[in-house]
Amino acid sequence: MPDKDRTSGFFRPELETMDPEARQAYLDRRTAEIVAHAYAHAPAFAAKMRSVGAQPGDITKVADLTRLPITEKGELTEMQQKGLPFGGLNGEPLSSMSRIYVSPGPIYEPGEKVYDDDRWAQAFYAAGFRQGDIAQVTFNFNMVPFAFWLDASLNMVGCVSIPMGVGNTEVQIQALKDLKVQGYLGTPSFLATIADKAEALGLDLKKDLNLQVAFVAAEMLPPSLRVSLQERLGMVIRQSYGTADVGCLSYECLHMEGMHFAQDCVVEVVDPQTGQPVGENEPGEVVATIFNKAYPLIRFGTGDLSAFSNATCACGRTSPKLTRIMGRVDQVTKVKGMFVHPSGVQQVASKFPEVMAYQLVVNRRGHNDVMTLVCELGADTPAETSELRAKMESAMKEVLRVTGEVQFQEPGSLPQGCKVIDDRRVWK
Ligand SMILES: [Zn+2]
Repeated sequence: MPDKDRTSGFFRPELETMDPEARQAYLDRRTAEIVAHAYAHAPAFAAKMRSVGAQPGDITKVADLTRLPITEKGELTEMQQKGLPFGGLNGEPLSSMSRIYVSPGPIYEPGEKVYDDDRWAQAFYAAGFRQGDIAQVTFNFNMVPFAFWLDASLNMVGCVSIPMGVGNTEVQIQALKDLKVQGYLGTPSFLATIADKAEALGLDLKKDLNLQVAFVAAEMLPPSLRVSLQERLGMVIRQSYGTADVGCLSYECLHMEGMHFAQDCVVEVVDPQTGQPVGENEPGEVVATIFNKAYPLIRFGTGDLSAFSNATCACGRTSPKLTRIMGRVDQVTKVKGMFVHPSGVQQVASKFPEVMAYQLVVNRRGHNDVMTLVCELGADTPAETSELRAKMESAMKEVLRVTGEVQFQEPGSLPQGCKVIDDRRVWK
């Protein structure tokens, strides 16, 4: 039973619908400000800038960021151990923080005293959360910042938060029912667990529960799972993308054609080898710069591989979108100048039910890269495979955008659990 308009409007209309050129000027100004702040207050960042001969006056716009090195997540633990607690990356003294979070690594993260970053709130609004909703936060509240951020961000939208944390499925269901909770925040798999358990307890998911909107994160959301949960629970499910270090970077609107860049942060998609921006729809690493003065992460490498699109969106938001998250940068291989990721290889293989096992082998022939998709076929495959081979080679070219060969091998010849991409090139 739809109770309010969850489809129109914006959380930050002036920014979300801003003319792209005006937004660029706005982000240029904010970028210059945060770089100057970080240079003055975060000694580790200042040292990084000096290491490439850059001064704050050199970074006056977003495009100048490419002069600065990318800080990869993997560096944080090492930097912190040399200068506990925050490795000299905090932009305000420890005494001005409200919390220290402990993320896996361990990585210590400063929590600013007044959390006024509204990027998750933008995401909630885009998903359909509205003032007056009661929302259950089922992410973990121990040690890490994520659930605290969501709890505070719900309040920014005018929602009432129930900080449930993980587990306790029956208590979660009881609260959903008793309090007529409209909003769910958690993983898609836990939402499925809740739905299964509620049905097992004899509840009618639509009549006994009042869920209208879900914000899911931290896991992949396969389209089939989204459709099934939306239908079973009679609700809208939207996802976003961010990390525990830099917060929300992008989020889906109702149209689901990718995830809009969040306002008030800089999202770059760069060539992982050079750190230089890639073009629209080209895969690259997501690199973020946030304007948090307490913890000004500048050019933070997420390690996630995605691509961006400037296509206009029917929702009225004018920011670009991340098309989808394709996997991790450290799994990517560059073949004939194009990035090839295991997920792309999986996508090719999944088009052919005959293929039981596969591995992409990358080699050098003379001075050229050669890519061979080695496949094992099921027992009922016809002996004549030239047509299948041609279809697969054309799918490789279409999906991976690199020409390759397909080779069929005896079943059992690929090692069990082998890597999806085996890069055998030797560089001399
Ligand atoms: Zn949109």
